[in-house]
Amino acid sequence: MKSPLMSLSKKSTAECLDTRLRELARVHEPIWVYDFDNACICWANKESLSIWQADSLEELRDRDLTSDMTQTVAKRLQQYQSDFSRDETIQFREIWTLYPNGEPQTVEVLYSSFRLDDGRMAMMCEALLQEKFDNEALRSAEALLHTSVMITLYSKSGEPLYRNPAARSSARSFGESLQSHFVNDASMQLLTSSDDDEINMVASVYTANGQRWHDITARRCMDAVSGDAAWLISEVDVSRLKATEERAQFLAEHDTLTGLPNRNYVSIAFRNHVEQIQAQGDRGALIYIDLDHFKDVNDSLGHEAGDKLLVEVAGRLKKIVGDGDNIARLGGDEFLLLLGPVADNKEIEKITRQVKKQLSKPITLQGRKVRVTPSIGISLFPEDGRNINDLMRHADLAMYHAKDLGRNESAFFTTDMSEAVETRINLESELMVALHEGQFVTYFQPRVDVQTNVITGAEALVRWIHPERGMVSPADFIPACEASGLIGTLGKFVLTQSILAQREWARNGHDIRVSVNLSPLQFGEERLVQDLIQIIEDNDGDPDKIELEITESVLLGHDQLTIDKLHSLVDYGFRIAIDDFGTGYSNLAYLHRYPIRCLKIDRSFIMQLDTAQPIIELIISMARLFKLDVVAEGVETPEQLKALREYDCQEYQGFLFEKPIEFVAFTELLRIHEESIAA
Ligand code: C2E
Ligand code: MG
Ligand code: MG
Repeated sequence: MKSPLMSLSKKSTAECLDTRLRELARVHEPIWVYDFDNACICWANKESLSIWQADSLEELRDRDLTSDMTQTVAKRLQQYQSDFSRDETIQFREIWTLYPNGEPQTVEVLYSSFRLDDGRMAMMCEALLQEKFDNEALRSAEALLHTSVMITLYSKSGEPLYRNPAARSSARSFGESLQSHFVNDASMQLLTSSDDDEINMVASVYTANGQRWHDITARRCMDAVSGDAAWLISEVDVSRLKATEERAQFLAEHDTLTGLPNRNYVSIAFRNHVEQIQAQGDRGALIYIDLDHFKDVNDSLGHEAGDKLLVEVAGRLKKIVGDGDNIARLGGDEFLLLLGPVADNKEIEKITRQVKKQLSKPITLQGRKVRVTPSIGISLFPEDGRNINDLMRHADLAMYHAKDLGRNESAFFTTDMSEAVETRINLESELMVALHEGQFVTYFQPRVDVQTNVITGAEALVRWIHPERGMVSPADFIPACEASGLIGTLGKFVLTQSILAQREWARNGHDIRVSVNLSPLQFGEERLVQDLIQIIEDNDGDPDKIELEITESVLLGHDQLTIDKLHSLVDYGFRIAIDDFGTGYSNLAYLHRYPIRCLKIDRSFIMQLDTAQPIIELIISMARLFKLDVVAEGVETPEQLKALREYDCQEYQGFLFEKPIEFVAFTELLRIHEESIAA
């Protein structure tokens, strides 16, 4: 129905109000003007007085409409006011239930803006009388008005035909088309390309409050007025839900410490990225980075310092390769970079060099300058693998190879690295057989007094006598024993052999002490103390004549469990020595905290006596302060021995005196040695 007021409401504001109202008064539909600011009806024609059940215009004007106005109605009126101030030309039609003097009166109202003489925005309301509203229609109309669901009817081409109040308050402009409502063209395409009558989607849309996420239901329907095809679109703002969902997704795919993507992200996003690069016919690389000796930093300076270091490393990597979605932290001190597309290996090498350079720069932790270096493994695609799993495995293998090269190195994957893994697996099963078939033999190397050259003890050093390969060095199989968990059994075997040897030599009048190596992994075993005591008792050994060699890394944690274990062992009678002293991170000043009796200076210092002299002298003088014995390892020349005499070192081991030898040979050595001393 065309409104008789249409022309009037559009007249200029300059026109005198009285003239306009006189014209309005002639219209035979009920019309009134609502003054938003004063919440009153400031003018009404004769016809509307009956709707409002008012005796006169004066009486209606004086009515306090706020007294029985609900919050919802007040809010809606506020919205109309802002609707009109955004666009004075709009009109809309709604079914309202008025409550003049408390009695419901339902009318369909056409609303339009109306400027008062003082320039304020008021609202002209034109009631369109209808015979009777059926209850159902009435309630659904009310629901449409009050619901927070945004409902809009668009023509098939996307022009808006109707918006409910919620949709009006959300729309950027009243005339905004469906197409320009969507942020992405794809959303509109989804609607038009679908054959379904009802389409659901969550889409990013433009609103009066900026870009939001709306859960949208689009239904194909007919416009009840024109009978033309139309879209009925209902929308609910799900931005908060979406933000929560995105946050949860982010947390699931990122590392909370560094904010970098994690392993989950790698298995999805890196996988896709690797596939995309290959689909374009390009090449790329995966770079696996592991920090050398990170555990030592963590153990000696604490986890907080370790965390700080990881965050710093993440920051430096980001500076090298961009914003961070091609860098991941796989856990612990392991990072992964995805490069691609890359032109050639030179580009990869350049980045690898940068990574090495940047990560090796010192970082200050707890007032101390710490330097960690990276070991880097690189796999290339497509040549080293086409999928992310193979590529990661190969980059990881290359990284281990870099560690073997002496750390702070990088290595490209080669096929023989996979073969090396196979060899290690074979080695582990061979070791199992070796244990059962008694292929391990304990050798002994004499420990000698620096001043008198008298044998003071022996170190038990295990050998593997392989049926085909002959003697295998412990350096080649101890790591495999540790990795496979065989080290515990092997350690017990060596201890048993050592107790038996010690007893036999003591019986012959050589009651020397025997040192046995304990791997850090073995030391970590929960039942270590009970097991060692059991072996002593089963073999009738003397714990006072057994020295246990541990490495500095065992002490780094400063944890109570380690201290308790050491005390239990010492209380039982064992002596504790620190092997390869000087190569780890341990602080000399902490030594007195542990029940230690002996330091074995690492062979590397003896090999470079000239340069290492200050360190050796420092170790010896500290040891004297803490009343510890000092043993120099790996003495090969008379010059080295002479220097140790000058430094006042107590004992030494080394090829100069004797190599590690079998039990029988050692027994013979003791006999000859005794004779020579007697002579
Ligand atoms: P380690 O405990 O520091 O043992 C000293 C190593 O230095 C021995 O190597 C010994 O043969 C070697 N050595 C001694 N004097 C000289 C010398 O003058 N010149 C040179 N170049 N080397 C010398 P080995 O027997 O090959 O053992 C290597 C490492 O394997 C040992 O270092 C120890 O850490 C480990 N190991 C050996 N036996 C056992 C064992 O029964 N259990 C455990 N857990 N580890 C063991
Ligand atoms: Mg040793
Ligand atoms: Mg050693």
